[in-house]
Amino acid sequence: MIDVILSDKAYENDVYPLIKAFYSEEMIKVHAADEYTGENREEASLHRIRIDFLSEGIRITSEQGTCSDTDFCGFKETSTRSAYKNAMKRFLYQKLSAITGHTLPWGILTGIRPTKLVYEQLEKGETEERIYHWMRSEYLCSDEKIAVSIDIAGRELELLKEIDYRQGYSIYIGIPFCPSTCLYCSFTSYSAAKYADYIGKYLTALKKEIRSFSGCFPGKKLTSVYLGGGTPTTLSAEQLDDLLGLVKNQFDFSNVKEFCVEAGRPDSITRDKLEVLMKWGVDRISINPQSMQQRTLDLIGRNHTIEQVKEAFSLAREVGHKNINMDIILGLPGENPDDVADTLEQIQCLNPESLTVHTLAVKRAARLNLMKEQYSDQKASQVGTMLEQTIQFAKNNEYLPYYLYRQKNMADNLENIGYSRFGKEGLYNILIMEEKQTILALGAGGMSKFVFHKENRLERVDNVKSVTDYIDRIDEMIARKKNFLEVNIEEL
Ligand code: SF4
Repeated sequence: MIDVILSDKAYENDVYPLIKAFYSEEMIKVHAADEYTGENREEASLHRIRIDFLSEGIRITSEQGTCSDTDFCGFKETSTRSAYKNAMKRFLYQKLSAITGHTLPWGILTGIRPTKLVYEQLEKGETEERIYHWMRSEYLCSDEKIAVSIDIAGRELELLKEIDYRQGYSIYIGIPFCPSTCLYCSFTSYSAAKYADYIGKYLTALKKEIRSFSGCFPGKKLTSVYLGGGTPTTLSAEQLDDLLGLVKNQFDFSNVKEFCVEAGRPDSITRDKLEVLMKWGVDRISINPQSMQQRTLDLIGRNHTIEQVKEAFSLAREVGHKNINMDIILGLPGENPDDVADTLEQIQCLNPESLTVHTLAVKRAARLNLMKEQYSDQKASQVGTMLEQTIQFAKNNEYLPYYLYRQKNMADNLENIGYSRFGKEGLYNILIMEEKQTILALGAGGMSKFVFHKENRLERVDNVKSVTDYIDRIDEMIARKKNFLEVNIEEL
């Protein structure tokens, strides 16, 4: 247990993820210094980290058992708040690194998209050498992570040069139903069986929202459309046919570069659904095993077999899908590098065009986190080694990294990387991750992101997450975005 005591709690969101990255297994509680009493704490097992933000600098005190030491660093809230925060985080990082004897591959970057930072520098014309030094000194990133960030941002820059993304927009449509709920899920997802009565009503509301935004960006070209979730292929072939037909009718697809459907769960995929996707011009799909180890799939609540993954994949090929992505997750409970090697070998046989490698990020609400005690002997470990295996696998099989993102609470503070064969990159993934283009999100849990290019800023307008609220409040969801567009359309 770690008690973190802050003299100014406004810095909680900067301090907590960094301490968590060093102590991923520990329970961490953040307190305001003026409210902290430390009562009811078992002194022997307690580690206290106190940070005082003073006018002349920052003082960090670490107390554990009978050991206590204090460091002071004299710097003031200088030019910008972000420069001050980074300086504070570097100081804290050095302190934690000295206490634990560990370093973090991404240094003080927690939750920030590293490639976005690098992309902006490349766009400004900075040299790779200067970017390298800046990432090293400002964020304390390792050479290896800087190299991969520069590599990916360079690739993204090249890809985005080919499209006029500023004059375009993309659409996300969410289907928040799944065949069963995976243990690690932190998305908006409802069991299709339990919520069967709501699917029809949900589609009615969603179709109303789709129709309402037809022609909402006069003069802007639609760049990509992504149907995600949840698991869109939880819908029946008829429902999918109806929905995709509507989308194609309501929006001008003449400039669309990518139409992607996350089929996701193999147990939801059938020949007729794959044919419906082909019929409406879907040119990229995902079939996600997450692991090719049956005991892992059983453990994490994915009610499907390895055979179903293989069958779904060959069905997709038979039907004519030529751009298939597969997602895997590293750090799943009970898995070791041998399991990952076997998973990769099986994926190699299937030969998908893209492979997306996630490291487990468990948000607080997900069942895996709630059942932590039960799986305490199966905690994510050796994830760095597993990540290395996937990097090597990608190199050996001609997959190039093309996007990267990080989330809070990721196993070993690592990252997710999307690899693809040349020319098969998921464009939507880049646009959403680098926040380069306005994304209109429709459906429950959809978070629209409106990019103001001139001001280099972004505004979000979200839909409610709950399916029942979405159905009941669909007019309000539509009005929220309509009102926003009415005020801001000229600036977008
Ligand atoms: S398939 Fe994805 S969205 Fe559905 S329950 Fe599993 S993790 Fe969640």
